[in-house]
Amino acid sequence: MGSLESLNPATGEPIGTVETIEPAAVQAAVDEIAEVQPFWAELAPADRGRYLERAAEILAGDVEEVARLLSSEQGKPITEAYTMEVVPTVDGLRWVAAEGPGILADRPVKMGGGLFTGKRVAHRLEPLGVVAIIAPWNYPWSIPFGETAIALMAGNGVVLKPSELTPLLGERIRVAFEKAGVPEGLVRVAQGGGEVGRAVVESSVRKVFFTGSVATGYAVGAACAERMKGAVLELGGKDPAIVCADAELDNAVAGIAWAGFANAGQTCSGIERVYVVADVAEPFLAGIRAAAERLAVGDPGSWDTEVGPMISEAQAAIVTELVDDAVAAGAERLCGGPVDRPGSPGSWIAPTVLAGVTHEMRIMREEVFGPVLPVVVVEDEEEALALANDSEFGLGASVWTRDRHKGERMARRLGSGMVWINDHAYTHAAIQTAWGGTGDSGLGRSHSRFGFYECCEVKTVSWSSPRARDFWWYPYDETLGRAVRAATGLLYGGAGPRIKVLREGGGSLLRTGARTLRGGR
Ligand code: NDP
Repeated sequence: MGSLESLNPATGEPIGTVETIEPAAVQAAVDEIAEVQPFWAELAPADRGRYLERAAEILAGDVEEVARLLSSEQGKPITEAYTMEVVPTVDGLRWVAAEGPGILADRPVKMGGGLFTGKRVAHRLEPLGVVAIIAPWNYPWSIPFGETAIALMAGNGVVLKPSELTPLLGERIRVAFEKAGVPEGLVRVAQGGGEVGRAVVESSVRKVFFTGSVATGYAVGAACAERMKGAVLELGGKDPAIVCADAELDNAVAGIAWAGFANAGQTCSGIERVYVVADVAEPFLAGIRAAAERLAVGDPGSWDTEVGPMISEAQAAIVTELVDDAVAAGAERLCGGPVDRPGSPGSWIAPTVLAGVTHEMRIMREEVFGPVLPVVVVEDEEEALALANDSEFGLGASVWTRDRHKGERMARRLGSGMVWINDHAYTHAAIQTAWGGTGDSGLGRSHSRFGFYECCEVKTVSWSSPRARDFWWYPYDETLGRAVRAATGLLYGGAGPRIKVLREGGGSLLRTGARTLRGGR
């Protein structure tokens, strides 16, 4: 067993240490969770919900402490720690606890008046067992917290592997559930780097909920497929925003600035491409530049800071490389770029707006995990839709328009898992809504009722009367054949042929009916 030191990205100072696990020890940890999980699964969903309600109450009281930890370990401004991560998880716990029992309840299946009349069938959702949650550093609280809450509500045990850049938050998630009385050992945190993540995937966990980069996501998906287990993959994004000529411009500028620069742009569904219709391009560019220049870059612990440090020097270097590449290819930097903060070893990038960008530039095709908004001026909405859809990613997209019907028409044509009209990305904080992407942005959905389904095995349970036998059982003979032919006409044919059918097959039908009631051969 080793240890992992967590550093504050703004100051470089150590803020805590956790014990790591050896990859070889991961299976034993999963086995231990598997011993506790059946007792948890025995509880009725409403009882499990009471633990989660309690967790919400306790977390509401701990909100300042958790938000401060989040801001100091990950570097996001304290206001965002509240609004984008901690408070939404309190809200989310309440939703999971209130709606979970209904979502998990047995659902009777309407068998109709046809072939299967008389059968009683229900769909039952059962826990998978132990599931793995592998989380990134950029939303190190809300992503694994929401997934853990739904997995627990569905009756599972959880092994959580946080990013090695944010281990304290991973530990704090376990504590949040244990403080509410969730059995000790039901949620275990496996601390360490990528090799621990790999060991988690290769262990006997029944499913992996992975959020992270596309490259690692492919590897995780392949490893799961080889072991016949499922994976939900929440990967990168390259979200477009389309600004229509009839957009409420001030609102579009404010919303796009927020969704592009929040969390210093280190957001999977942050806006990374803006397509603005030529009619409004000039005022939009002037507005977005002014909005970017107004943002306060600085100490994330201060209430009025709007943009904190980048998570690491390496991340900042990738962002700078992509911006420099665009500028070298002819883009114009309207504002922003790397900033020196005397006395701070962290990496800081002031919100950057690029104009004169073209579709071929790397910055329009590769994920740029930083506070950068590249803007492309298009002729019309058709061109915007074509360019927006020309991407390997398909996480989110937004349309900015005053016309709701047009917004919804455009939403249908956008190839992404989520489309927001006059907003962007906020639904990650609304756990009642489904989250996930298409293409390289991943597979499956988290949150919402669909996130619950991902945490469950669906079992079909059917009741048949012991006093009647099915007509499709043996023996096969001409009587059965004629009866089936007649029944097809009666059940599914039009009114005209029914009389003919009855005349030709009525006797066989009656004989077959009597046979099913008698039982036996
Ligand atoms: P990574 O893929 O590097 O890491 C994600 C997690 O996987 C970390 O816990 C990491 O551990 C772990 N890991 C690394 N290698 C392996 C492996 N071989 N097997 C299993 N687990 C492994 O992503 P980042 O942490 O850098 O996160 C940023 C990425 O996440 C971006 O691409 C972003 O778009 C995406 N993302 C997607 C979201 C979505 O909802 N679609 C939401 C948020 C982020 P360690 O960090 O210790 O190396």
